[in-house]
Amino acid sequence: MTSSDKSGGSYGFAAPRGKVYDSVVGVVGGTPLVALPHLTRDEELKCRLLLKLEFFNPLGSVKDRIGAAMVLEAEREGRITPGRTVLVEPTSGNTGISLAFVAAARGYRLIVTMPEGASIERRRMLRLMDAQVELTPARLGMAGAIARAGEILQETPDAWMPDQFDNPANPAVHAATTAEEIWVDTDGKIDAVVAGVGTGGTATGIAEALKPRRKGLQVFGVEPTESAILNGDEPGPHGIQGIGPGFCPATLNTKLLDGVIPVSEREAIAAARRCARLDGIPVGISSGAALHAALQVAKRPESKGKTIVAIAPSFAERYLSTSLFSGL
Ligand code: PMP
Repeated sequence: MTSSDKSGGSYGFAAPRGKVYDSVVGVVGGTPLVALPHLTRDEELKCRLLLKLEFFNPLGSVKDRIGAAMVLEAEREGRITPGRTVLVEPTSGNTGISLAFVAAARGYRLIVTMPEGASIERRRMLRLMDAQVELTPARLGMAGAIARAGEILQETPDAWMPDQFDNPANPAVHAATTAEEIWVDTDGKIDAVVAGVGTGGTATGIAEALKPRRKGLQVFGVEPTESAILNGDEPGPHGIQGIGPGFCPATLNTKLLDGVIPVSEREAIAAARRCARLDGIPVGISSGAALHAALQVAKRPESKGKTIVAIAPSFAERYLSTSLFSGL
């Protein structure tokens, strides 16, 4: 092999992409599926456990897919116009950062509403990309941010809310891209997928696209034990950012899921830390939750010889100020 070899040279690195992108928006997707050889050995797994690394997206999370898709779809439908429409979304999380890069790249003004107390790193990332951040009282929680976004929508001419919890482009982009990538990269030999449920778009889209193509494929959601509403419990505060919104969103189709596995914050953090330590992949807290749940699926006797994919939505560094790093 030579260093110009299409397969990535003698190092076995990723191959060149063979193209130049017109805009960073086109770089979304095409994330790698990676084995966890040390964790697999440590757990004596008899199956193939793979992580889909969504932090390979340009702004570092799975939300780049829906940030781009919701905007591009609304443009296609003629509902929004660059330079004129103002995007407004209540979000304290990765969706704001993803919408911010798409808004900047395509020429929209963006207003994000979020409760005071959302991490400073997030607020600064938003401002770096010229998004306007409106803080709402912490004591009102996300409900306060949602109410304020509604007011801005009323007050602002040509304002539009992507509304990730109710936008069909959310599960649709996962069906068209996330699922397709898993299918192609495993050559269709996929037996179970495990994904944390925030909006439910990831799990729903993957199940919708792959279940008709692969008989017996199981798709499991993951929710915080501290707010296990899909298992009939009461909503509650928890530390697994990105999943467990405390209600059942329109973007989630529970009928397509084979179960929703509860994972506690403590278990999620332990799994995320093991993944970093053993296999050199520092993932975020919800990735740890998905990994913990995927290990339970992997250890079932019926998983022997099967391929199981867990979705890793984000990278550890986005949680520097959280309990993921306490004591380190
Ligand atoms: N983990 C993280 C870190 C996220 O930002 C999200 C998206 N809210 C999820 C998991 C869950 O993805 P989905 O909204 O597609 O259910």
